[in-house]
Amino acid sequence: MEKFNINIVVGTGFSGATMARLIAEVQNEPVIVYEQRPHIAGNAYDYKDDNRITVHHYGSHIFHTDNKDVFDFLSRFGSFNHYKHSVHGVINGKETYIPFNLNTLRDLFPPKESQNLRCKLLTSYAYGSKIPILEFQKSEDQDFQKLASFIYKKIFKGYSQKQWGTSFSQLDKSVTDRVPVYISEDNKYFQDAYQGIPLAGYTQLIANMLDHPLIDLRLNAKFTKSMLTSNMRVFYTGPIDDFFEMEFGPLPYRSLNFEFETIGRPFFQNSSVVNYPETEAFTRIHEFKYYLSESSEKSTICREYPQDFVPGENEPYYPLFTKDAKDLYLRYVECAKQYPNVFFLGRLAEYKYYDMDDAVIRALALFKEVFYA
Ligand code: UDP
Repeated sequence: MEKFNINIVVGTGFSGATMARLIAEVQNEPVIVYEQRPHIAGNAYDYKDDNRITVHHYGSHIFHTDNKDVFDFLSRFGSFNHYKHSVHGVINGKETYIPFNLNTLRDLFPPKESQNLRCKLLTSYAYGSKIPILEFQKSEDQDFQKLASFIYKKIFKGYSQKQWGTSFSQLDKSVTDRVPVYISEDNKYFQDAYQGIPLAGYTQLIANMLDHPLIDLRLNAKFTKSMLTSNMRVFYTGPIDDFFEMEFGPLPYRSLNFEFETIGRPFFQNSSVVNYPETEAFTRIHEFKYYLSESSEKSTICREYPQDFVPGENEPYYPLFTKDAKDLYLRYVECAKQYPNVFFLGRLAEYKYYDMDDAVIRALALFKEVFYA
């Protein structure tokens, strides 16, 4: 008799939906999917609002990957458009490009100074180089040092303080390296080979992944440790501390609050996302109609306010990688070893800053490990 005759997936974000689909389709085994929220798709959840605009309920989600397998896999469940993300930022009261690139330099410095810096940058770095700000700050060249401290002050310092509630110097490299200084005139936020937004929306894409006769989806259903039985194999994508009922205390996460607003004209801003690193209590404003080129007399925007995560009150979005948090996470990982049939997967369960493609890559790898090792 099969030792495990019940497969459980907890959570319906990209990690959970990928795992559930693989178990059903490749393994040809039934799988019960628990989702504690009233909707699927995790924080990628989107829907058409009253303005007939597809809004990303938990903030902008832009799919991007260099991994063809991941893109091909997801494309089976919905086509993507060719949207290329470009982020603007208001710096010194002027709207320009983020990440800081050669066009940002031209926008923010007097012509002669910007020309001089541009020449120096292009002789010191290859065109297309991406330099993490912490590395750029270590430059021995005095002009670069000055430029690095300008970029740090204008783009990273205030934004990161708002976003993380802590100073930039306390952040993990996996955070600080995400938005490098870009020696290029390319204003795109990502340079991955595959980029886009699912034409029918993320919720529909995930719904299509979960639409399989062997998948039994249960919404508004929380899975807890006490429900475990010895014949279950569980893929858990919720917060790892929650699984262990905060036995060693809660892991810190950062959360977000979104204030949505309808604008009575076709466009509010010049780009889907405009960052406010220096001013305002919010970090950025999203304008959703750009993603699917939806036309409407009105527009829907939202302002993004970072806040602490408070269990039961808001959603966890980002792991906070302080030294103490990492140590606490490792205590939970140690504890997880007592549950060899529970596999922790995804941003919240692995306490990692995964993008959507990372979540799918991890799920594909874990599936192979568990079923084919
Ligand atoms: N960041 C910043 N200023 C910006 C944009 C990003 O300081 O204008 C820093 C900030 O710490 C942020 C991190 O870079 O949390 C990663 O930014 P990204 O846009 O990748 O964040 P996400 O979209 O995942 O929230």
